[in-house]
Amino acid sequence: MPFTPFHFGPGLLIKSLTGRMFWLTSFVAANVLIDVEVLYYLWTRSRPFHRYAHSYLGGMVAGLLAGAGTFAVAMLAARVWPRRWSIPPKAKSSKPMLLFQSIAAGLIGGLTHIFLDSLVHAEVEPFWPFAAGNEFAGLVSGRIVYLSLAILGLLGGCIWLQEYLAADR
Ligand SMILES: [Zn+2]
Repeated sequence: MPFTPFHFGPGLLIKSLTGRMFWLTSFVAANVLIDVEVLYYLWTRSRPFHRYAHSYLGGMVAGLLAGAGTFAVAMLAARVWPRRWSIPPKAKSSKPMLLFQSIAAGLIGGLTHIFLDSLVHAEVEPFWPFAAGNEFAGLVSGRIVYLSLAILGLLGGCIWLQEYLAADR
């Protein structure tokens, strides 16, 4: 969907509850990557706007790419700017563990994206290429989906801010 930031709501909430274990950047990257497809087809004005990336298979691939890509960038940054990117608590974890965390966050981002978009957009075919159609569309009204996502994001933001302020003291 073009309203990509709404997808960040659940990610913010998970981040606020799990802390450094959860790679919010990988989660966000997966969501952005999937919606590049919509942007492209909007730009070329060719319907449907939601195609291959908007399936569970596409979402998983995007999640893997986003997770691996974010991990690679983080490792590179830590090597190029060791002082600035010391990432203290994360650095204690082993590299395979960090890669696993990053990919897990990417996959959660990709899969939640497909699920949420399949509720709102009838043209999404979540089980492509195995099955056509979308039985989830319209199960919940679009407004309720957007509102819930906004509330989740706000809640996550509040918890995060509160923890940040508490830790700062
Ligand atoms: Zn989308």
